[in-house]
Amino acid sequence: MNNSLLDWYQLHMEKLEDSQLAAPLQTEQMEVGKNAYAKLESFLSSHDFTHIHLVYDKHTFQAAGESLVKRLPSHNQITISKTELSPDANGDVIANETSIAYLLTEVQRPDVLIAIGAGTIHDITRFVSYKMGLPFISIPTAPSVDGFNSKGAPIVLKKRKITFQTQAPIALFADTSVLAEAPRPLIAAGVGDMIGKWTSLADWQFGTMMAQEPYSETAVAMTKEALKLVTSSLDDIKNQTDIGMKALIEALLKSGMAMSLFGLSHPASGGEHHLSHYWEMHYLEKNKKQLLHGAKVGVACGLLADHYHKQANKLLLTDSRLTINQQEKAQAILASIPSGDEIRRTLSSVGGSTTPHELGVPSELVENSIKHAHTVRDRHTFLRYINESR
Ligand SMILES: [Zn+2]
Repeated sequence: MNNSLLDWYQLHMEKLEDSQLAAPLQTEQMEVGKNAYAKLESFLSSHDFTHIHLVYDKHTFQAAGESLVKRLPSHNQITISKTELSPDANGDVIANETSIAYLLTEVQRPDVLIAIGAGTIHDITRFVSYKMGLPFISIPTAPSVDGFNSKGAPIVLKKRKITFQTQAPIALFADTSVLAEAPRPLIAAGVGDMIGKWTSLADWQFGTMMAQEPYSETAVAMTKEALKLVTSSLDDIKNQTDIGMKALIEALLKSGMAMSLFGLSHPASGGEHHLSHYWEMHYLEKNKKQLLHGAKVGVACGLLADHYHKQANKLLLTDSRLTINQQEKAQAILASIPSGDEIRRTLSSVGGSTTPHELGVPSELVENSIKHAHTVRDRHTFLRYINESR
C-alpha cells in the first residue's frame, strides 16, 4: 500500500508548533498512480461496504465511472446505484439547491457514496453524504482544484456561495492516466489554483505581522513544498505525462492537507481568492456561465502581483505606523511574490488564460474587485492594507 501522502501529513503533524491543534486526517487511504483504482476494491471490502452509490456527470462517467462500474461487480457482490448530475442552462453542473435535492431524492441507503469528477461533483457529494451521515470516497478525474480532500463544501444557495464545513473523503483514488485525459483548461486551472499560493502565502505572512492572523510555519512549509512541486514540473504538466499529472495532483492534495492541518484556509487562500470570489458572485447574480475556479485564481494572482508590487511597496515606505523592522519585513514578504509577468508566463506555459481579458472577465468588474474584494472575507491581506490605507 502506497500511503506516502498520509505519511507526509503525519510527519508534519508531529512538527506542528501547537500540538493541541494537530488534527488527524479523516482520510484513511490516498492512492495516486496508474493503477490506483485497483486498490478501491480492497478498500471497499476491508470496510464491508457492499452497497455503493456513484455520483458523476456525463463527462466524468465516460472518464472513469464506466470503467469503475465494469470493474466492481466482479468483487464480493457489490450493489451499485448511481446518479448522473445534469448541467444547468449554461451547460455547467452547479453545486446548488437543485443538484443537492436531486441527489438526495436518488440516494437510498448505501454504505458509502463515491464522487467521480472534479471540484463541483465533490462538493455536491461531500455535502449530501455528510447530511445523510454517510462517508464518501473521492475519485478525482481532473487535477483542477485543491479541495478534493478538504472538509469545506462551497454551495450556491439563492445565487450566493456559502462554504459549509462538512467532511473529508475517507479515501481517495486518483488514476494518473485518467487525469492525463482531462481537458486542458481543467489541468491549467489546477496550476492556477496552485500558483495562487504565491500571493496567498505572502498575504498570510503579512496579515500575521499586521493583524495577528493565526499562523503556522509548518503549514507554510507544507504549502511551499506543494507549490514547488508544480513549478518544477511545468514541462511534464504541459505534456500531460504521468509524472506531470502525479506532481500536480499530489501538489493539490498536499495544499489541501496543509489547510486540514492548520484548520483554516489561510495557507491557500489570500487576496487572489478574494478576487476570484468577487468575480464569481457577480457571475452568479448575472446568471453567467461560470469560469473555472483555478483559472480565475491564476489570473487574479498575476493581477495582484503587479498591484502589490506597485502600490503596497509605496505605502509601506511612507507608513508612519510601521517600525523600520516591520517595513523591512513587509518588503521582504512582497519580494517573495514573483512579478506579474512571471506568473502569466507560468500560466501560459501550461495553456492557461493569463489575463482577465483572455478569461472574459469585464474590465469594470476587475476594477471594482481590486477596490472592494478585500471585504468578501474578514482576513488581513496586502489588498486590504492597500484599500484601507487610501
Ligand atoms: Zn482555490
